[in-house]
Amino acid sequence: MRIVALAGGIGGARFLRGLRHTAPEADITVIGNTGDDISLFGLRICPDLDTVMYTLGGGINEEQGWGRADETFTLREELAAYEVGPAWFTLGDRDFATHIVRTQMLDAGYPLSAVTEALCDRWRPGVRLLPMTDDRVETHVVIEDDGGKRAVHFQEWWVRLHAGTPARSIAAVGADDAKPAPGVLEAIEAADLVVLPPSNPVVSIGTILAVPGIRAAVAAKTVVGVSPIIGGAPVRGMADACLTAIGVETSARAVAAHYGPDLLDGWLVDTADDGTAGDLDGIAVRARPLLMTDLEATADIARAALDLAEELRA
Ligand code: GDP
Ligand code: CA
Repeated sequence: MRIVALAGGIGGARFLRGLRHTAPEADITVIGNTGDDISLFGLRICPDLDTVMYTLGGGINEEQGWGRADETFTLREELAAYEVGPAWFTLGDRDFATHIVRTQMLDAGYPLSAVTEALCDRWRPGVRLLPMTDDRVETHVVIEDDGGKRAVHFQEWWVRLHAGTPARSIAAVGADDAKPAPGVLEAIEAADLVVLPPSNPVVSIGTILAVPGIRAAVAAKTVVGVSPIIGGAPVRGMADACLTAIGVETSARAVAAHYGPDLLDGWLVDTADDGTAGDLDGIAVRARPLLMTDLEATADIARAALDLAEELRA
């Protein structure tokens, strides 16, 4: 079975661990969000690709959900001593090594897809991890505060401001002119099904779908998604702030309607949302527990997504 998954960071990575567990024979290609990427300290940082790589490769900080396990912060302290910021973006020493390798390869002319493949040679995530594009796409957020109306990088809004300043709008800068990375469209076309893990519908999945060609290729497949919204709230993070910015209500049902029946064939919601979630027009909705509390629970969610896809394909 050939499966393609679109993934952001933590929600996507955890789901993928369950998917790999429940479908060990499957050929899984992950198309990762690169809209969160940022250049800091002269280094190119790809938070979502790294979260997937570290999580599936056994190097993740489990409690935090991002960054490396057994981390130290000497480099960060030294940079702070030079008053070189930003101080709001935490990078550990081990993590820094990844960004150094990546930046070196990018500077030598390798595309991000080749760099990601090289990094995965070490981490062996058990899936094929592709960036959505090799072109530069960066999510920017228009905010309005005492400093007036201005656009900030997604990371500044998310990490420094904790999405506390309302977003007037969110844009994937560069997406319109971006091309899917080599292998992305081919993997989707060859897939038996496409899964949308419980990743942020706006700045993770939405950004991937904004790369021209990806949405249409995915829509042609059997697509099953897992709601990141449980009981009308994100499980963790501030996805509600992103949904509000694009005028979508924070509910499992509204997220499915936002993806739309042209894209989505099946949608898993949590049992907490069962009462409000009958089948949507053209989207089969099933309710089951969706908290990824441990590997077993997560594998069961992934299995339910595969079963629903199987049912819809029949
Ligand atoms: P990020 O890039 O690290 O923000 O991660 P993603 O975009 O992959 O995923 C973030 C989303 O995962 C958030 O909207 C959370 O609500 C969702 N999420 C996190 N843990 C769980 C869980 O246990 N179950 C479900 N259904 N969603 C979750
Ligand atoms: Ca992210």
